[in-house]
Amino acid sequence: MTNDTKLLLGIEDNHIKIYPHSVNQNPQTGVMEVNALLSYRPKACPNCGIKNCNHKIIKYGWRSTSFKMPRTCELDVIIKLKRRFFKCKECGSCFLAQTNLVSKNCTFSNNTKLAFLEKLKDRVSLTHIAKELSTTATYVNSILQSTEETVWDNKSLPTVINMDEIKSTKHAKGSMSFVYMDGTTHKF
Ligand SMILES: [Zn+2]
Repeated sequence: MTNDTKLLLGIEDNHIKIYPHSVNQNPQTGVMEVNALLSYRPKACPNCGIKNCNHKIIKYGWRSTSFKMPRTCELDVIIKLKRRFFKCKECGSCFLAQTNLVSKNCTFSNNTKLAFLEKLKDRVSLTHIAKELSTTATYVNSILQSTEETVWDNKSLPTVINMDEIKSTKHAKGSMSFVYMDGTTHKF
């Protein structure tokens, strides 16, 4: 059951455990809440870089976090992730277990951000996308802006470019906007 839930939600991180009977689906509120645990042995301290040998990094309790995943089975999915907290005995700093499922201090998983960008292929407004993904147009716009910065940071054009025109939001000067992506990696 727990592996099925991970598969259904597209969670590939082996350090994340979903316990049996920890999935609460509420059709009334339209929310699926999944309780999970994240723990592993860190290789090194992210602050001072010291390798984790001779118990240099110790377990220092747990912290509760939560973030949104893409909608599944017509429900908003919220992961309540209990994460291991660590302390480095070398530099005294503490840090939280991380997963590539969600960026640091982020309330939306990385694949939810990708879902935002996928939706931008359709000729719909940011408000429409935001409503569909239970967030705000401002947040969808911020994801779009950060992606644009990544593209321009590369300073070179991809070998294959796919392009299209999309209906602009009210904030844009023209009624139509231009969108393009790397035809090989499919990155916007
Ligand atoms: Zn340290």
